[in-house]
Amino acid sequence: MKVFKFGGASVKDANAVKNVGAIINRYKDEKLVVVISAMGKTTNALEGIVNAAYEGKDYKSQLQKLNTYHTDIIQDLNLQLNIDYFIDLIITNAEANRSMTMPQYYDQIVCIGELISTTIVSTYLNANGIDNTGLDARDIIKTDNTWREGVVNWQQTETFVLNKIPEILKTKHVITQGFIGRTPDNYSTTLGREGSDYTGAILAYLLQSEGLFIWKDVPGVLNADPKIFSDTANIPELTYYEAIEMTYYGATVIHPKTIKPLQNKQIPLYVKSFIYPDLPGTVIHFDDAEIYYPPVLVVKKDQTLLSIRTTDFSFIAEKNLSHIYEILAKHNVKVNMIQTAALSCTISIDTNPYKDQILEDDLAKQYNVTKNENLQLLTIRHYTNEVIEKLTAGKEIILTQKSRNTIQILY
Ligand code: ASP
Repeated sequence: MKVFKFGGASVKDANAVKNVGAIINRYKDEKLVVVISAMGKTTNALEGIVNAAYEGKDYKSQLQKLNTYHTDIIQDLNLQLNIDYFIDLIITNAEANRSMTMPQYYDQIVCIGELISTTIVSTYLNANGIDNTGLDARDIIKTDNTWREGVVNWQQTETFVLNKIPEILKTKHVITQGFIGRTPDNYSTTLGREGSDYTGAILAYLLQSEGLFIWKDVPGVLNADPKIFSDTANIPELTYYEAIEMTYYGATVIHPKTIKPLQNKQIPLYVKSFIYPDLPGTVIHFDDAEIYYPPVLVVKKDQTLLSIRTTDFSFIAEKNLSHIYEILAKHNVKVNMIQTAALSCTISIDTNPYKDQILEDDLAKQYNVTKNENLQLLTIRHYTNEVIEKLTAGKEIILTQKSRNTIQILY
């Protein structure tokens, strides 16, 4: 069996949904588990709704827009389907849960985007001869209560996945949501933005799939983001190792957590174009292989640089570093780059309006903290001097770090 994952862009309107149907039809003799994201920019829209609703501000006009967006798609697909239930569910959660912390509140509402999209796609496919059963991913993906970043309980998830999916696959495809799960006490969780790829990997792993297919609006894994760079090339083949390195540094083509489960069972990951499904795309496989890679460019925007200095003139060595990392871990903050000096260390982290101030306050209890914001972090794997020169010309560089394969430049 194969696991397919379709992201928001691949179901953004009625034609896109029809195209998903056409792609699934190409594999009609196969057993498919199809993981689907919220439609288009729905998750962003839900984030807007969450922010307004949590503060008791008007969110109903935004919700109305989201409702219309989906009902238009339903109409264009000629379906007899009503999503009032989900809209009411958003309102109920928005009104009743304001005493929750923001991240928990967020998860209860944002997960509904995926529930709506899979309901529409599943109904469309069934109405058009592609028999499938819609499965609520929260009934199979079990997580702890790390809101917005649910940590998967693999054991429990395996039990539910194996109990439910193989049985359905005997006769039908499975349609389920990416990105969402559920805690033991029945709260919804999300797995981190763009987390649907990860759901695909979890299912591929537990079901011993012959491959995870991620369908995208690009021809495969490119050596740079075409939204940022004009001159990009498809990389036909990558090792798991290379793919993990790329995503670690911020390549957004695949969610960083996706590769590891696949690598553990040597399940290939195919990144393919839903626009040109005949193109070969990219295959990610093998632990080790002689592959030539072009320079791979990754830009991480919205970086905050924290300079952390000891106040008692003690060196930034093992003790202080482990203490700083303890604080970062407590706030679930990932360091994108670090440089240490005698009395200070500087770290680059993703700007996060939800927790930056709390983190800073925590660090400031023991250290002197200053910060620079609105920076970008450029990582080049397999760099050449020519590429470095071209990409840094005229930029005010704040930090650089270079190893044999990788250079990171903060500006
Ligand atoms: N809908 C979620 C997001 O936009 C998850 C995903 O698309 O992978 O982040």
